[in-house]
Amino acid sequence: MSEKSIRLIDERYLARAMPAPVAGRPPGANIADRFGRRLHDLRISVTDRCNFRCAYCMPKSVFDRDYAFLPQSAMLNFEEIYRLASIFVGLGTDKLRITGGEPLLRKHLERLIAMLAQLRTPTGQSPDLTLTTNGALLRKKAAALREAGLRRLTVSLDAIDDPVFRQMNDVEFAVSEVLDGLQAATEAGFESIKVNMVVQRGVNDDQILPMVEHFRHTGHVLRFIEFMDVGSSNGWSLDSVLPSAEVIAQIQQSHPLHPLDPNYAGEVARRWALDDGSLELGLIASVTEPFCHGCTRARLSTDGRLYNCLFATEGWDLKTLLRNGASDELLRGSIAALWEQRDDRYSALRTEATDALRKRRKIEMSYIGG
Ligand code: SAM
Ligand code: SF4
Ligand code: SF4
Repeated sequence: MSEKSIRLIDERYLARAMPAPVAGRPPGANIADRFGRRLHDLRISVTDRCNFRCAYCMPKSVFDRDYAFLPQSAMLNFEEIYRLASIFVGLGTDKLRITGGEPLLRKHLERLIAMLAQLRTPTGQSPDLTLTTNGALLRKKAAALREAGLRRLTVSLDAIDDPVFRQMNDVEFAVSEVLDGLQAATEAGFESIKVNMVVQRGVNDDQILPMVEHFRHTGHVLRFIEFMDVGSSNGWSLDSVLPSAEVIAQIQQSHPLHPLDPNYAGEVARRWALDDGSLELGLIASVTEPFCHGCTRARLSTDGRLYNCLFATEGWDLKTLLRNGASDELLRGSIAALWEQRDDRYSALRTEATDALRKRRKIEMSYIGG
């Protein structure tokens, strides 16, 4: 790739002015971006804080005592989140994921879940409402979240071996407590529980098989995520990515496997299952097999900015619109305009331009929502 084309890619991600709202977008108008991708998913970050310091996300050296997290007044309140979510749902969004930071640190989160569980798509369906957590507070929160209407859950867990897990969360948190949280979620009756493991070569790749052994016969889906170059502080390099193909090859040496059909068109995870039916696997090859062509996700940050890509450098300030008294119609028209001008496809462009792209200052995942 020439230097010029790399520069062009970079410019694509620089600050863009809020486009003029598109008038006449009634609820039910399905919108698509410049590559024809619909706005199906919204990830909502409810806090930029976390009780872990995973080095690949919030390294201690950056997120230390002096780090300026958002003050309460800068964060969207539940009513504001609900209002924006309802506008997204009106524009065709049928999947809402609550994330962060660590979402269970947000006080009374179950109240927000109960509000969002009331939303209906223009065709009268409940949007798929789910949440990603590190599991540390699940024992305390699982039952309340389930009662509030949360049906699905993803728990991040990068190792089953206690010393490795403690080293990865970097706050001496014991793996037994996350496993107890998972048990609480199972008892609370969640319909689906997925376990996400970010794999880093030389850090936790020796945990792949132990994780497989641990989660066989639990009914949970175990997913392996390639380590991504999100944010600007996690010291990412291509060498530290263990490609999903290698993960599968490793598991196949001990367990016969077969691929499964996707649950729906455009599913990000490639599905596999152990031949004996004891475990379903998901492989998320965001680096080695990018899936930008089917990416239907928008992200709403804790302070109400809209990001059209995980790797965006700038988000659009919906909070100010909201707090200045914008009508639903204006908000709907603005969100439609922002989505319709979307041309992001960072991961697809990353492969050859890795070095140039990673020098850009990107937004941290803990703020934008993983
Ligand atoms: N704190 C919650 C958790 O860890 O589940 C939710 C937020 S976290 C940012 C969401 C997901 O992003 C987690 O599964 C985490 O492992 C993943 N993640 C964070 N940084 C990542 C990176 N550099 N590469 C790949 N996945 C990453
Ligand atoms: Fe916290 Fe989740 Fe990031 Fe780990 S991945 S530091 S648990 S926000
Ligand atoms: Fe979607 Fe951006 Fe990730 Fe591509 S890089 S899959 S556009 S979030």
